[in-house]
Amino acid sequence: MKYFRFLLRYNLKIMKMEASTVATAKKSIQEGQAEIRLTSDKVFYNPVQEFNRDLSIAVLSVFTKDYMEEKLTKALKVKKSEKIVHDATGNCINLEIPVTILEALSATGLRSIRYAKEVPNITKIIANDLSEQAVETIKSNIVHNGVEDLIETSHDDACMLMYKHKHPSQRFAAIDLDPYGCPSIFLDSAVQSVQDGGLLLVTATDMAVLAGNSPETCYCKYGAVSLKTKCCHEMALRILLQCIEQHANRYSRYIVPLLSISADFYIRVFVKIYSGAIHCKKTTSKLSMVYHCVGCDNITLQPLGGFKPNPTEKNPQQTKGYLPAAPPVGEYCVHCNQRHHLGGPIWSAPIHDDAFVSRVLTHVQDNPALFGTAKRMRGVLAMVREELPDAPLYYTQDKLFGRVHLETMPMLTMRSAILNAGYKVSYSHAAKLSIKTAAPAQLVWDIIRTWEKTHPVKPAKLESDPVAKYILSQPIKSGVDLSERPDANPISRRDGQLRFQFNPAPHWGPGSRAAVNIGEEKVSKALRNQNKHSSKEKNSGKRDHSPPSDDEVHKKSNIEQTVT
Ligand SMILES: [Zn+2]
Repeated sequence: MKYFRFLLRYNLKIMKMEASTVATAKKSIQEGQAEIRLTSDKVFYNPVQEFNRDLSIAVLSVFTKDYMEEKLTKALKVKKSEKIVHDATGNCINLEIPVTILEALSATGLRSIRYAKEVPNITKIIANDLSEQAVETIKSNIVHNGVEDLIETSHDDACMLMYKHKHPSQRFAAIDLDPYGCPSIFLDSAVQSVQDGGLLLVTATDMAVLAGNSPETCYCKYGAVSLKTKCCHEMALRILLQCIEQHANRYSRYIVPLLSISADFYIRVFVKIYSGAIHCKKTTSKLSMVYHCVGCDNITLQPLGGFKPNPTEKNPQQTKGYLPAAPPVGEYCVHCNQRHHLGGPIWSAPIHDDAFVSRVLTHVQDNPALFGTAKRMRGVLAMVREELPDAPLYYTQDKLFGRVHLETMPMLTMRSAILNAGYKVSYSHAAKLSIKTAAPAQLVWDIIRTWEKTHPVKPAKLESDPVAKYILSQPIKSGVDLSERPDANPISRRDGQLRFQFNPAPHWGPGSRAAVNIGEEKVSKALRNQNKHSSKEKNSGKRDHSPPSDDEVHKKSNIEQTVT
């Protein structure tokens, strides 16, 4: 009964709010080729995410071309007599392949309008939002930008809309999920309503949860335990990827990551979705549990599965799945004699497709005028291309040397020492001081112990820190050569690319949750902050694009009763 009373008030508030909405535009925003008029301050728009939108446009521009070619090739296998005919811009003109895109949580419609004006080959875009006020804003912006022929609006629950499109004939070529907070509630419907070979673009902004501040919540939302480590941003990407993979596997589908980006206050992944039960059996070999040493921050991965050759006369390439031996660490860490925490599972296979990223980078380099954040895109994509694909996660220079109270070694010396020992090394785009390498941790600590011989720690500091003392007292077992070499400096760094962005604006962040569903009454700060802890939990969750859960209804109902 309480629920229905709440719904009644909830709807009345929205109706009152709509009636009082000023019809005239309050302000407009120019981004890319789109101009957006905000008819209300209560519609969600975040200017800091321009990089996210620019990147999505570059990715979609390359993807739609690939997608058309793949679908055309398949279609022509059926109609063998026809040949593909291209126009001057390289687009096929004799066979129509529908390229439909869903922006499930559209808010202002800015993203959809930019897609319509800037991404080639799109045949239809659906811009959906649960808020009627947002949909009205989107409609007016579509007309304002003259893209009525390409964009349809939809006023629906995002999940319900996607479920309506899960039949193969109704599926989308690409679905963009950019919620405020966690995207996991949308994944079940999203993985079912993307075409085979289609693209899923997913943002998550609940970084506190993904970065280990609340591992219990992370398990509830993403099905994986997050850890507080220096490599938490890449771990966040890998947690999100395993979450999407698990949702896809339930329907005999699987993901192929094209590009995975950690930027500012959010992460963004671009994954292709394919069908194939046999491929799904390989999932466990792409996932790992994470042993995290609480003393020295060392990370050791435990794969959930593996594949080994099992050749037969009929099929010499045949492989067979097996269960790897566990655990990969002893009871105490061999480097610092402390215990471990266990996190994960995470996606431990490659998180980027180098060939695809290379083409996106070329597209940005060839069309710098198309993107307001072109300089940053070039820097980040160049770094992504340099990342080692087979070395999940990373060390950080400050954490390694800070752990043993040492003066930090120059980054080029550290990287040179790893290269001199015969191992590869790269940065991660996710952290400025990252050291990504498949070299054993023994070598990394041996390099630090060698450095300590010429840059000794004050004895008093070691007396008060038995872990640091233990690490530095271990014998050096590897041959360490600290002489610098030119190839230790990556090309993106030598070229002076904009690799890491400084805070782009004052008070930057994910912005405020869309206010359209909150109502117009001013709720006092004290009142808003009551049950602060549970409110925080909610803020790290979903944006108000889906109907409130029973728990949320109960909380809102309590607030409303106090207000009225
Ligand atoms: Zn340790």
